[in-house]
Amino acid sequence: MFGLTKGIGIDLGTATTLVYLKGKGIVMSEPAVIAVDKNSKEVVAIGEDAQKMLGRTPGHILAIRPLRDGVISDYEMTELMLRKYLQSIKRHGLNFLYRFNVVVCVPSGVTQVEKRAVIEAISSTGARRIELIEEPVAAAIGAGLDVSQPYGNMVVDIGGGTTDIAVISLGGPVTSASIKVAGDKFDEAIIKFIRKKYNMQIGERTAEQVKILIGEAFKGNERRETEVTGRDLVSGLPMTITVGSDEIREALEEPITLISDAVRDVLERTPPELAVDIGEAGIIMTGGGSLLHGLDQHIAEITHLPVKIAENAVECVALGTGKVLEMISQYEDSLFDGSSY
Ligand code: ADP
Ligand code: MG
Repeated sequence: MFGLTKGIGIDLGTATTLVYLKGKGIVMSEPAVIAVDKNSKEVVAIGEDAQKMLGRTPGHILAIRPLRDGVISDYEMTELMLRKYLQSIKRHGLNFLYRFNVVVCVPSGVTQVEKRAVIEAISSTGARRIELIEEPVAAAIGAGLDVSQPYGNMVVDIGGGTTDIAVISLGGPVTSASIKVAGDKFDEAIIKFIRKKYNMQIGERTAEQVKILIGEAFKGNERRETEVTGRDLVSGLPMTITVGSDEIREALEEPITLISDAVRDVLERTPPELAVDIGEAGIIMTGGGSLLHGLDQHIAEITHLPVKIAENAVECVALGTGKVLEMISQYEDSLFDGSSY
């Protein structure tokens, strides 16, 4: 069942790091957060444990999302986080260093220098061959699209820090855009809205929960509501209010318009033959941000195109790295007979 070549695929997202192990599938999905002790420089926590510390740390502990804006804001922290994650994968039985391939996907805003830092961090774990692939291409492959044909596929990947939009044909992006408006900006917009309307300050995690619970981009059939607790900006004391989905829709209008404008802009720059293909096949949405209630309907309304959210939308990029890995392995296995083992 397993090929001879071992390998892992990594989706180094702005919000989530996913790891795909060849022959096993996705073995890890953790928030891309790391917490370190500023004095001893030791890693205090990574992933979910570190996420719980965001906004709750004492002075000597630093908890951050090092890839938050789709660029590597802190090399050292990114490397540390990646190393820790790879170590935990090794515990999954990947403790051999022979013929160990890695396919990694980094946010599209990451510079050449930053990419090299990622490659170095990975190669220090013993990987032999490291391939970087472009995020929308990985997302499209992971969503099950055949991108190898001369046929236009449009992917809109909405993550935490960035939205990546691309029309792909013959394995590569033809027209694309990457904007720093995605899930985090939705959270920020909710914080701003509640502060302005209710004079109440809420934290990022709370805003995210409100978004996931009752957020919407398109008017739903019924008004949903939830209680939100924060700090009264007047008295400084905790307070609780009830907000409705219609209010959150209003709060999200600006970032959502920026995303749909960017989608329309890419469509306008797309060569006519490919535009015809997209008219037929529609737009595929991936990434956690695409799960916002009614965002697919909103984009469909703006573009007059059919829009579909990919199955396993959050895992598409990781699954895409996995598929590329299998392809590389098949090719390599046909060159080696495995007798070196
Ligand atoms: P990245 O690829 O940048 O790491 P992800 O694809 O993991 O990001 O998406 C993370 C974003 O998706 C976060 O902003 C998160 O709040 C958002 N998200 C996850 N689930 C939902 C949901 N059900 N509704 C709305 N937003 C969601
Ligand atoms: Mg992503």
